[in-house]
Amino acid sequence: MLIDPHIHMTSRTTDDYQAMAKAGIVAIVEPAFWLGQPRTEAGSFKDYFSSLIGWERFRSSQFGIRHYCTIGLNSKEANNVALAEKVMELLPLFVCKEGVVGVGEIGYDDQTEAEDRFYREQLELAKEVNLPVQVHTPHRDKKQGTIKSMEVCLEHGLDPDTVLIDHNNEETVEDVLNRGFWAAFTIYPSSKMGNERMVEIVRKYGSDKIIVNSSADWGISDPLSVPKTAALMKEKGIAEADIKKVCYSNALEFFSKSGQMKEEHWLGSSGIDQTQLFSGNSVLRGGQSPAVDKNIIR
Ligand SMILES: [Zn+2]
Repeated sequence: MLIDPHIHMTSRTTDDYQAMAKAGIVAIVEPAFWLGQPRTEAGSFKDYFSSLIGWERFRSSQFGIRHYCTIGLNSKEANNVALAEKVMELLPLFVCKEGVVGVGEIGYDDQTEAEDRFYREQLELAKEVNLPVQVHTPHRDKKQGTIKSMEVCLEHGLDPDTVLIDHNNEETVEDVLNRGFWAAFTIYPSSKMGNERMVEIVRKYGSDKIIVNSSADWGISDPLSVPKTAALMKEKGIAEADIKKVCYSNALEFFSKSGQMKEEHWLGSSGIDQTQLFSGNSVLRGGQSPAVDKNIIR
């Protein structure tokens, strides 16, 4: 059993869901993010958040994968201040919905003043509703941006144990673990964090508070990054117990702080029933016969 705690399924296909389920992924967390093109209306955010707790959650269930999400205003779109203010008014309506396991993904992109403002406001929101935080760290000025992301959390009085710092690499991992935060690693195909490098990180730092994810989205990415990394770790002699932690139980431990994610959701689940509909819609197309399997044993 594996968990991918950072994947943007809205941008992926049913083939991906099928392959993920087959590879052992039982649960996923989909952070709210930007869509490649900036939104121009608060209503677009509202519908997007609604789809994360509605249609996408349903779609995932149709392939036997439990779907959770984090809700937040991403750093890129925080730079449209007038719109960002309206989105901030929407967030409290969504963060306490069923299946929402945190505030995310929030943080810095270009590390602008507007990004800083809305990052801080969302940390306050997370504190108020007592939810974990999923932090996106910038791809430029990575080390400095990562340290700043953590310092701001501490300044706002957040417990580092309730904050997951994402998109780490060899340069940031020690700073994150030493401060008591959770360190997530995104395995991109061929660039940045290849899975060979991830194996070495686990060899060097162990498995405590380390989490692997795919961050697969509409760009070139791999929704099977977690299973592939788990397999490589096994091949390279990493202990089973460590693989289980970084590819399954750490993500569960972290996001279950929300009270929304529980292992029993997929252990002894009632299986797949593709005869079900969401607002009258199904994942099936012309003449396909629905898969019904009530006896998935986990
Ligand atoms: Zn993301």
